[in-house]
Amino acid sequence: MALLETKDLYKIYEIGDHTVTALDGVSVTIDRGEFVAIMGPSGSGKSTFMNVIGCLDEPTKGRYLLDGIEVGGLTRDELAEIRNRKIGFVFQGFNLLPRTSALENVELPMLYNNLSATERRRRALAALKMLGLEDREHHAPNQLSGGQQQRVAIARALANDAPLLLADEPTGNLDTKTSIEIMELLTRLNSESRITIVLVTHEPDIAAYSRRIIRFRDGRILRDEAVVKS
Ligand code: ADP
Ligand code: ADP
Repeated sequence: MALLETKDLYKIYEIGDHTVTALDGVSVTIDRGEFVAIMGPSGSGKSTFMNVIGCLDEPTKGRYLLDGIEVGGLTRDELAEIRNRKIGFVFQGFNLLPRTSALENVELPMLYNNLSATERRRRALAALKMLGLEDREHHAPNQLSGGQQQRVAIARALANDAPLLLADEPTGNLDTKTSIEIMELLTRLNSESRITIVLVTHEPDIAAYSRRIIRFRDGRILRDEAVVKS
């Protein structure tokens, strides 16, 4: 079954007396376990698409099914709940809470689940360990390198066992060596844990780690093709 499916999505902004069509009839199906890169020029609709599939923004028109759930028409609370259960987010700027340890940052999304404090801690420690950060659990973000901060953010996204990881320019603030490290990590998580990854990137070298590239242009899908690995 498809993990996510959009059918003829439109997002239309009205600004004064004119409109901007940020998404112009986007239909796409992404299966469980896929690793997809979203590319396209600035203003082509990538962020809008990610916001809609991330249940952060509603389309003007069209349908969106996430793990079989019809997202349109859900209440705010239901949206927050589905976001929490189904999606882990990783951003360019890491978005970690300052003055809060790596461990507590990873525990944060689990506060909204019915998990005991012990279980939250167990899962957070397991996620940090999986990302090679077991000796950094008490460090605050500003005591960690950029790559380590991004690994904490990935641990936070994984700790909840969400099936979908959405990453917006996850290597945008990292040097080349660290970017490679993060992409190799995401590749490993995708193949070992079968987590579905959708990431936005401007860089062909980064997109090359994925197995499918969807290119946006003017709010539409221009091309959608498998990555041929050499
Ligand atoms: P990126 O291309 O790095 O994802 P953004 O998503 O921040 O950049 O912005 C993409 C485009 O959307 C830009 O042209 C920006 O001006 C426009 N944009 C973003 N937010 C708004 C907004 N609230 N109102 C109007 N235009 C916006
Ligand atoms: P990308 O992420 O590919 O840079 P966006 O999804 O940010 O593209 O933007 C797509 C189009 O929608 C752009 O023309 C942008 O200016 C417009 N846009 C994005 N967000 C807003 C907003 N909040 N209000 C008005 N226009 C927006």
